[in-house]
Amino acid sequence: MPGDVLTPPGPPGSVPLSEHPRYGPDAGGGASRGANGRVLVLNATYEPINVCTVRRAAVLLLKEKAEVVEHGSWELRSETTSMARPVVIRLVTYVKVPRDTHQRKITRRAVFARDGWECQYCGARSQLTVDHVIPRSKGGGSTWENIVAACAPCNRRKGDQLPKQANMIPKRVPRVPHPQVFIHVASPHIPGAWKPWLPEAGVAEAA
Ligand SMILES: [Zn+2]
Repeated sequence: MPGDVLTPPGPPGSVPLSEHPRYGPDAGGGASRGANGRVLVLNATYEPINVCTVRRAAVLLLKEKAEVVEHGSWELRSETTSMARPVVIRLVTYVKVPRDTHQRKITRRAVFARDGWECQYCGARSQLTVDHVIPRSKGGGSTWENIVAACAPCNRRKGDQLPKQANMIPKRVPRVPHPQVFIHVASPHIPGAWKPWLPEAGVAEAA
């Protein structure tokens, strides 16, 4: 998707900046607050699929590739336009998520988030590492289906053994995670305005 426009053009029918009430101390203040913020992205079906920067959301909105679902009480401004700060946006066109999810990088944080920040062998919540269920030395791949969160002691105890040899079987069969996992990885703090759009499952495990 093209879209790294730094100064987006005004949308059709936009109101000149001079006609907008001003919020905040100055235009720059709004921009910096916006840069720190994150926006929840919903698919056309309202399924939460991602988190993006406010700038990225603004580009999608100005190109009419997305619409605002929830917005903040202050405005974003560029030289040519202004808009309510988006908090939740919805893509106008449906995006196929499962394929995208498969392509997402396997990171420690994402593995931990998927596994509820718990060692999949003993349930410990500290000293987490990632473990290859089938060790790499025995042909195990670095895939979502073969990597789990494991505490350091369990990881050492299991060593280079197969799960059955070590008698250590992960509590849950590791799978490609639900897209919500990446929302928590991208934004450990979940703003209140997002919660109606995030199903209960998974929200509690953000910390
Ligand atoms: Zn453990």
